[in-house]
Amino acid sequence: MKRVHNFSAGPATLPLSVLEKAQNELTNYQGRGTSIIEVSHRSPEYTQINEEATTRLKEITGAGDDWEVLFLQGGASSQFMMTAHNFLNTKRTANYIDTGAWSAKAIKEAKLFGNVHTSFSGKEENYTRLPESSELSFADDAIYTHITSNNTIFGTQFQSEPENGGAPLVCDASSDFLSRPIDLDRYGLIYAGAQKNLGPAGVTVVMVRKSFMEKQRPEAIPTILNYNTHIAKLFNTPPVFSVYMVNYVLEWIQEKGGISHFAEFNEKKADLLYSEIDRDDFYSGTVAKESRSRMNVTFRLESEELEKQFLSEAAEHDLVALKGHRSVGGIRASIYNACEMESVKALTGFMKEFRNVNG
Ligand SMILES: *Cc1c(COP(=O)(O)O)cnc(C)c1O
Repeated sequence: MKRVHNFSAGPATLPLSVLEKAQNELTNYQGRGTSIIEVSHRSPEYTQINEEATTRLKEITGAGDDWEVLFLQGGASSQFMMTAHNFLNTKRTANYIDTGAWSAKAIKEAKLFGNVHTSFSGKEENYTRLPESSELSFADDAIYTHITSNNTIFGTQFQSEPENGGAPLVCDASSDFLSRPIDLDRYGLIYAGAQKNLGPAGVTVVMVRKSFMEKQRPEAIPTILNYNTHIAKLFNTPPVFSVYMVNYVLEWIQEKGGISHFAEFNEKKADLLYSEIDRDDFYSGTVAKESRSRMNVTFRLESEELEKQFLSEAAEHDLVALKGHRSVGGIRASIYNACEMESVKALTGFMKEFRNVNG
C-alpha cells in the first residue's frame, strides 16, 4: 500500500497506526459485533471513549480540576460566535489581536455581541508578521483577550503567549494545539477544530477554565450555544466517530512522549524546511523570520509559472497538497504532529533537486 507525503493544511494527515486501528475495528468494535458508530452515545462503550479522551487531554496539557473539556460540533468557526456570545454583551469589551483571516472572522462575530478593542492588526501588512509587545494596546476592563496562536493561512505563529492586558486569553489554537507546551495559567478558554492536528473533521475541542465561566454574561444564551449546557452533561449526540479518532490520536501522542516530544520533533522539521528555504534566494519565505510558524511553512518562488511547475513536479514525487491558500498564493507545507520526518526530508530533497535544475 502506498501513502503519499501529505502536506494538507486541513483536514490533514493522521498517524497511520491510528488509521489502521480504526480500520481493524470498524465493523466489529472490541468483539461486540457492531462498530462504534452504530451504538448509542449513552452506551458504556462511547461513555468510556469520551472519558478517556477527556482524561488524556488533561494529562497531555497538564490541566487540573479547574478545567473542563468539551467535544463540540460546528468547527472552530462556531467558536468565533460562541465565545463572544457567552462572555460579551453591549456593555462589555474584549481585546482581539488581529493576525490573519481567522482572527478577522472571530472579530466579525464578536462585534455582533459586544465591543471589540482591536489590540493590533496586521492587515495592512498582509499579515506577514506578528506584533511586538510594545505594539499591543488593551481596553481597561476587557473580559478576555482573543488570539489566534497559529495563523494557518499566512504561516505565522506566536512563539510564546503574547501580553494579554490583564484579561485571560481566549485562544483559537486550531492549527497548533498540542504541538508545543503552553502556559495554561494565562488562558481562560482554548478551542481547536480537530482536523488540523488532532483527528478528523467534525469535532472541536474546547478547554475552558471554571473560574473563567464565572464571567459568563448574565443574559440568556440559546441552550446549545451555552457552554454550561455541555459542562453539565452530554447534552445531545456528539460527533461519535470523530471523538473516537481523537481519543486514539491522543493515545498516540502519549505513547510518543507527549508534548515535549512533539515540540522538539516539530522544531526539527520546521528548521530543516526553513534552512532549505533560506539557503539562497531561489525560495523565499513569505513572513518575517521571527514570526515563522512551525506548523505551516509558506514560501514563494520567482514566478507563478515556476510555482505551478514546482507543484506539478512535486506531485509526481508523491509530495501533495502543497499549494498555498488562495489568498496568499505560493507554496504551503503543513507539517503538523502526524507529518513524518521522512516526508519533510522527501520535500527538502525535492526542493534541492528543483533548484539545481531551475535555479
Ligand atoms: C481551519 C481553521 C479554522 C476554521 O475551522 P473550521 O473547523 O473549518 O470552522 C479556524 N481557525 C484556524 C486557526 C484554522 O486553522
